[in-house]
Formats: sequence, C-alpha cells, structure tokens
Amino acid sequence: MEKKIRNVIIIGSGPAGFTAALYTARANLSPLVLAGIKWGGQLMLTTDVENYPGFPEGILGPDLMQLFRKQAERFGAEILNKDVTAVNFKSRPFTITADGKSYQTQSVIIATGAEAQWLNLKNEQRLIGRGVSSCAPCDAFFFKDKKVVVVGGGDSAMEEALVLTKFASDVTILHRREGFRASRILFDRAKKNKKISFLINSVVVDVLGKDKVEGVKIKNTKDATEKTLTVDGMFLAVGHKPLSDIFKGQIELDEMGYVRRIPQGNGPGNPSTSSERGFQMITSVEGVFVAGDVHDYHFRQAVTAAGYGCAAALEAERWLESQND
Ligand code: NAP
Repeated sequence: MEKKIRNVIIIGSGPAGFTAALYTARANLSPLVLAGIKWGGQLMLTTDVENYPGFPEGILGPDLMQLFRKQAERFGAEILNKDVTAVNFKSRPFTITADGKSYQTQSVIIATGAEAQWLNLKNEQRLIGRGVSSCAPCDAFFFKDKKVVVVGGGDSAMEEALVLTKFASDVTILHRREGFRASRILFDRAKKNKKISFLINSVVVDVLGKDKVEGVKIKNTKDATEKTLTVDGMFLAVGHKPLSDIFKGQIELDEMGYVRRIPQGNGPGNPSTSSERGFQMITSVEGVFVAGDVHDYHFRQAVTAAGYGCAAALEAERWLESQND
C-alpha cells in the first residue's frame, strides 16, 4: 500500500480520462492516471478520425490518443499503464489496486469507457478499420456509393443504417431473428428508407477480404443454408458493454451496467452551489466522479467523452476545495 494520499486518481485513458487528467493536472492536483495495459480506449482501434474538431485533415485514432497523453503529461499527470483490479469506495480515502499495488486517494474519476460487442468471427478483428466498424457516424463517409451490411436488430442498428444511407448506395440490415427490438419509430424510419433492405433469420459466419472487406458469409438460422453477400463494409450494432465490472457493489450501476449519474441536487457529494452549474458528473459515492462512455450510452463520441472528462475534473476540483473549507 502506498502511504501517500493522492488528490485524485483517474481510472481509464480514453478521451474522457486524459481530458480529466489534463484539467486536474493544470489545477495542481497531481493526478495519477491508471491507464490500463491496453491504454487509449476505443480510438486505438480506429484508423482515420475525421470528426474530432481541430484536425481539418483528420488524424489517426492512435495518433490522437498519443497527443492526448502527451498533453496531460506535459502538465505533470502521472500515467501508469496498469489495469485496476479492485476498488474500495466504502470509506475515504478510497483504495485502488492495480498490478498488485494499492493507492489511496481523496477522489476518483471513473473513465473506463465501454467496448463495442463484436461477433468474434475469424477475420473480424483483422479487418477493423478496413471495412469492419462499430461506429457509423465515424466511418460512414468512407462508404460513398458502396454496399454495406449492418448487423443487429436494435435501435443502434436502425440508427447506424440510417446514417449510412447518407453515403452508401445499399444498406442491408441483417438480423438473427424475425422480431426486432428496435423502437417502432426508428424501425419504421428504416423501413421507409429506399436504400435500406432487411435480411432476417440470418447470422454472419465470417467476414471476407484480404486487405479490406469484400463480403460476408452468412447463414440462414432456419434452414442452415450459407451464402456470400458481396459488400464493402460490415457495421456491428450488437450492443455495447460498459467497462464497469470492477465497480460492482461499490457504486450504483444501472441495469445495463452503466455507472449511474445522480441527478443534480440529489447527490450525497453535491456541494451547495452545484445547482448553479450545468454539469453533474457525480455518482452514488461522494468523491467519486464519472466521465465518458462508461455512463454515456447515448452520444458515445470522442468529443463528448472529452467534454465529460473536463466536466468531471472541474467537479472533482471544486469538491476537493469544498472539503478543505
Ligand atoms: P440492443 O438493444 O441490445 O440490440 C442489440 C441487437 O443485436 C439485438 O437485436 C440483438 O439480437 C443483436 N445481437 C446481439 N448479439 C448478437 C449476436 N451475437 N449475433 C447477432 N445479433 C446479435 O443494443 P443497442 O441497439 O445498441 O441499444 C442499446 C440501448 O441503447 C437500448 O436501450 C436502445 O434503445 C438505446 N439506444 C437508443 C437510441 C435512440 O433512442 N435513438 C439509439 C441507439 C441505442 P436479439 O434482438 O435477437 O437479441
């Protein structure tokens, strides 16, 4: 156990975590970032990022994350590529264990993110960024006049398909059964769109292509027949998983495992002046803040995650100040 009691520990190192690190470092809070062995978050798995403001020519996802990291380090953030294995939020100072060592801290910012669910197909991971994607708003632009398939039958699948129709010539929504769990409004909107067709009772067996996606091999779930669809892209919308397992029992999570933000004015860690502020990144435990995709299943964008990271850092800073009053 480290003896020193830190001001703030940030768990996670995507846009939310590194932005929180930048802001808390510039507030002289000497943050420790437990970044994870595979640091950098979901942008490490992408190629071109064209929707992050400030990069008119676009930037590679891993390059962007290097810059985030460098900027936080420049102001003194300590960043360790260690995975957090346990947290204790039951009493303060909080304890966080990573790589066999425990750290104590007054406050925590959770920014562990979420991961897209994949289908675990043989060639899927190899073709991510080469036609396999889980983010239509990020990648639709690369599929101008191309054919794509969207896998899933929920709201995300409908939304991804609708976004893709702005660029692609044909979008096939491929779903494993007849019933759709998507909301009626999105389902109807997709059905009305002339570029969208539906293929039901079908699953993807593998994605094909050497350097880029050239097709998908699919199987009918009723009669087990297989065929190949020639497509240039495969978008997955089979759900996201928030990376919150280590917080179970320590903090309130919602039924899907996302960290629950406590509504403004109701939180135990809510300083009296908070009602004057717009953002609330507080959780069910006073002193523990949250930022990014681990609580946000709505926007899921790098730029919104960075914004949440900034907000959580400001909240943490003000809360720490209120503790010394
Ligand atoms: P979801 O509702 O869980 O849907 C996932 C879909 O993927 C389901 O249709 C599921 O099929 C399918 N699926 C899962 N695993 C699969 C596999 N291994 N192989 C083939 N198909 C598989 O996830 P989501 O669409 O991301 O939505 C998550 C939450 O966010 C929902 O509450 C949703 O309403 C919300 N959301 C809202 C909006 C909006 O309101 N604009 C937009 C996006 C998301 P089955 O149906 O057979 O299980």
